[in-house]
Amino acid sequence: MIQNVLILGAGSAGLLAAITLKKKLPQLDVRVVRSSDIGVIGVGEGTTPAIPLHLFDYLQLDKARFYAQAEPTWKLSIRFHWGPRDYFDCPFAFQLSGQWCCNN
Ligand SMILES: Cc1cc2nc3c(=O)[nH]c(=O)nc-3n(C[C@H](O)[C@H](O)[C@H](O)COP(=O)(O)OP(=O)(O)OC[C@H]3O[C@@H](n4cnc5c(N)ncnc54)[C@H](O)[C@@H]3O)c2cc1C
Repeated sequence: MIQNVLILGAGSAGLLAAITLKKKLPQLDVRVVRSSDIGVIGVGEGTTPAIPLHLFDYLQLDKARFYAQAEPTWKLSIRFHWGPRDYFDCPFAFQLSGQWCCNN
C-alpha cells in the first residue's frame, strides 16, 4: 500500500490535492514541497461552482470556518464587453432571469 505522498507545488493544485488526500485517506503521510523562489499564481481560484462543491460537499469542510479564514470575495458573474450589445453578464449558474434554450 502507498503510505507516503509527496506533492510538488503549493499553489491551488498542490494544496487542493493535499487536503483532498488527507481528508479522504487520513492515514497517508502527505508532504507538500514548494519553491520559495517561485511564487504561486493565486489570482481567482474558486470562482466556478466546482470548487465549493469539492470543498463543502465532497470533502465536507466546515463552511463557516473556511469562509472566516479565507475571507473570500464573492464573484457572481463575469460582465463581457463585446458583441452587438454593450455588454452581457454571464452568471456561473442559471439565475431567475436566465433562459433555457427553447429547442431542448
Ligand atoms: C490572470 C489570471 C486569472 C485567473 N482567474 C481565475 C479565476 O477567476 N478562477 C479560477 O478558478 N482560476 C483562475 N485562474 C487560474 C488559476 O489561478 C490557476 O490555474 C491556478 O492558480 C494554478 O495553480 P497551480 O497550483 O497549478 O500553479 P501555481 O499557483 O503556479 O503553483 C505552482 C507551485 O509550484 C511550485 N513550484 C514551481 N516550480 C517548482 C520547482 N521547480 N520546485 C519546487 N516547487 C516548484 C511553486 O513554488 C508553487 O508553489 C487565473 C489565472 C490567471 C493567470
